[in-house]
Amino acid sequence: MTMEFTDRVSRVEPSATLAISALATELEAEGADIVDLSVGEPDFPTPENIVEAGKDAMDAGHTGYTTSAGILELREAIADKLAADGLEHDSDEIIVTPGAKQALYEVVQSLVEDGDEVVLLDPAWVSYEAMVKMAGGDLTRVDLSETDFQLEPALDDLAAAVSDETELLVVNSPSNPTGAVYSDAALEGVRDLAVEHDITVISDEIYKEITYGVEPTSLGTLEGMADRTVTVNGFSKAYSMTGWRLGYFAGPEDLIDQAGKLHSHSVSSAVNFVQHAGLEALETEDAVTEMVTAFEERRDLVVDLLAEHGVDVAVPEGAFYMMLPVDDSEARSASDASGDEPRADDQAWCEGAIEDAHVATVPGSAFGTPGYARISYAASEERLEEGIERLAEEGYL
Ligand code: PMP
Repeated sequence: MTMEFTDRVSRVEPSATLAISALATELEAEGADIVDLSVGEPDFPTPENIVEAGKDAMDAGHTGYTTSAGILELREAIADKLAADGLEHDSDEIIVTPGAKQALYEVVQSLVEDGDEVVLLDPAWVSYEAMVKMAGGDLTRVDLSETDFQLEPALDDLAAAVSDETELLVVNSPSNPTGAVYSDAALEGVRDLAVEHDITVISDEIYKEITYGVEPTSLGTLEGMADRTVTVNGFSKAYSMTGWRLGYFAGPEDLIDQAGKLHSHSVSSAVNFVQHAGLEALETEDAVTEMVTAFEERRDLVVDLLAEHGVDVAVPEGAFYMMLPVDDSEARSASDASGDEPRADDQAWCEGAIEDAHVATVPGSAFGTPGYARISYAASEERLEEGIERLAEEGYL
């Protein structure tokens, strides 16, 4: 039998990062030592107190379904956390999800209809595009690569891209993949455009807790934004809880009502004992500070090492990623030396880097920005040094 698949799924490509991880797995199976700088998760274990809280919750029998939107204690604790960021939301304006990804999925499904225009700031995290396409939306992309990935100097481009036809804009600060934190002036520019054209904005703040010397403003705190902002956050990054799958979104009550239907008819709720662990996570400070301090030291290390090899990067102020400009000509000469076909693009650069240097990175084209590779510095200093050394030795820097 030949199954017929929906347009919805056919519109979406498998993640471009899969090719890289498949290559990495293949090489590792052959015994290669791969320096993996492609990962999107902290390399720290979940803090012990959070693990214990999860175990205790299981022992205490928190193993059944919960209210679809999530246990009240957690939604209240999230409301307090948001209030500390300046965002006012009652517990009934919050839905707890199995990961921020599910939160984004539900929001996009609730807001984007066939033919609706959605604006992304490139480079943008890979799943926004897929989610919008699955919902039938059309993408308009604003390139921030000419402005060191900062939004403020590109506000004119954003103004030219949006119109009364724009349904949704996605803002992700600190950004995956660039680590950029947008200035208050940039966010005010977003606000002005959103109000002028009546646009809903998703503020994906999943890296908000991971910044270096800057305090990112939550978009929803700006005047005029409360009723048009959906704030998304989660526990994966700040508390190193990627596999627990816990996130949430907060927004106007009518959105919560609509998205809540999708939520209850799909995932039912986030995992019960994981929600209890989330309560403990929101009380955790020292472990978060330790991780953030380590990331900052590693960022400095990588920026310095790259500079030693003559490579300048836009220095990230948050998250644990940076964009490495990939000079095709150098990669080409490296490949010429090894007798391979010329490498024409960043995808080829990344494949070459993993084959020749055994260093895994993610091609910028996966994020809508060819000409770069994303480096994740959620790896030990030793591995970061090793990875950059190898890239340099093989002619990739
Ligand atoms: N938003 C961004 C920008 C991300 O990088 C990620 C994870 N890579 C997510 C959302 C989703 O995170 P999770 O589902 O693990 O909460």
